[in-house]
Amino acid sequence: MKTLKVINQNGSCCTTTKNIKVSETDNKSNKNLPIVIIGAGPIGLAAAAHLVEQKQAYILLEAGREIAHNIRTWGHVTLFSPWRFNINKAAKALLNASGWEEPNLDTLPTGHELIDLYLKPLSELVQIKPNIKLNAKVVGISRQFNDKMKTKSRVEQSFIIYFEQENNIHIIEARAVIDATGTWGNPNPANSTGVWLQNEKALANHIEYGIPEINTNAKRYANKKIAVIGGGHSAINTLLAIAELQEENPATKLVWIMRKKSVEEAYGGEGKDALAARGALGFRIHELVDTGKVEVITPFYISQVKKEENIHIVGTINGEQKVLTGFEELIVNAGNRPDLSINSELRLSIDSATESVHALAPLIDPNVHSCGTVRAHGEEILRQPEKDFYIVGAKSYGRAPTFLMATGYEQVRSITAYLSDDEEASKRVELELPETGVCGINLADPSNSCC
Ligand SMILES: Cc1cc2nc3c(=O)[nH]c(=O)nc-3n(C[C@H](O)[C@H](O)[C@H](O)COP(=O)(O)OP(=O)(O)OC[C@H]3O[C@@H](n4cnc5c(N)ncnc54)[C@H](O)[C@@H]3O)c2cc1C
Repeated sequence: MKTLKVINQNGSCCTTTKNIKVSETDNKSNKNLPIVIIGAGPIGLAAAAHLVEQKQAYILLEAGREIAHNIRTWGHVTLFSPWRFNINKAAKALLNASGWEEPNLDTLPTGHELIDLYLKPLSELVQIKPNIKLNAKVVGISRQFNDKMKTKSRVEQSFIIYFEQENNIHIIEARAVIDATGTWGNPNPANSTGVWLQNEKALANHIEYGIPEINTNAKRYANKKIAVIGGGHSAINTLLAIAELQEENPATKLVWIMRKKSVEEAYGGEGKDALAARGALGFRIHELVDTGKVEVITPFYISQVKKEENIHIVGTINGEQKVLTGFEELIVNAGNRPDLSINSELRLSIDSATESVHALAPLIDPNVHSCGTVRAHGEEILRQPEKDFYIVGAKSYGRAPTFLMATGYEQVRSITAYLSDDEEASKRVELELPETGVCGINLADPSNSCC
């Protein structure tokens, strides 16, 4: 049985179930409560750095056993934006003061390097480490004494955050909440209607969502027939890694299934991409397709995947139903979606198509914007009907794949300034990004991705 524990105001543990006594908090005592940040990815940690700068009390809850748990799962992938766009200003100031060695700003880190050379040292600073709780998975957020329906005194009530840690449920009280939980752990299915079917779930042992590390899983993929599903950069990264394995294991068969009108659309800007590393991905996959190492099936709309004697992919191509057979492994890179279940007792304004923060939707609409053309935005755009609650980072973009860390850093700079009563700073815009203009993404196909 799980024990309920209440975290004390300074972040220390605990009062057990029997002792729970939650007294009514007034406006004044609310002010003394910490701000709770949920998720220690790059954006949650940047929020922490800004709160240190602003001298505000905060607690950072992270579900993983280490910080940046989501990035670790794709740590072998090289980022397409160089270090200079991946380091938050407030974090850099704190790190510099601690004698940190800054990486070469013009080089591209892998996900592992982003963690080991920047995020981890940041999380270990004396101003941050004591405020992080690892293995702390948030399962719900509400207002003290009030469910979503209740309006009376709502804004005066503190936030109540429930999280699971070491098989116990803990409660923590906060004056404001910044949800930076990302979307990476919550993938879209192979099914092009977006509906998760039992057939697909039952194939769990033969499907990977995301970008698996092929080298360490060589046995699983060598000399197998593999379908890679999705038309974005994650799918291309996956295909390029398996193509290397194919060199030494020539019986490996690679089939690339997507919904684009033509494969050329998936190559992106190639030489015209302002982020050279991303352009290079387009070049390399183009060559693999031209030399027949990767078979392309597009535009293919998957209606279900199922296990027969091998894996079958059922779908429609050019108006005709077709069953693709003989697959032993599937890798699905069809994008991700936000998990809004932890926010369900809060009053939110979410866009019905992108599932992004509502006011953000027109700024990030992938019909119009690539990663580099998203206008800088801050507290005002991200404000929710639930006062002092914010969704930031990749999760604020919902299903839209146009998120860049630099935009998230600007989000939390502005929000933390607002929460520190510095409205002038919160309204300022302090973001410069390179114009890329080459993502070529459309909303009808969320499997497209900048990233
Ligand atoms: C392969 C890949 C390459 C990318 N390359 C680039 C690039 O080159 N440049 C760029 O700017 N952007 C890039 N991005 C996009 C984006 O910047 C990253 O996805 C970034 O990690 C998003 O940061 P985040 O902090 O919003 O979310 P995440 O990094 O996903 O962090 C969320 C954190 O929240 C934690 N969490 C989740 N749920 C809970 C919960 N219930 N309770 C507590 N903690 C929770 C997770 O464990 C995780 O640590 C890339 C993305 C991918 C997938």
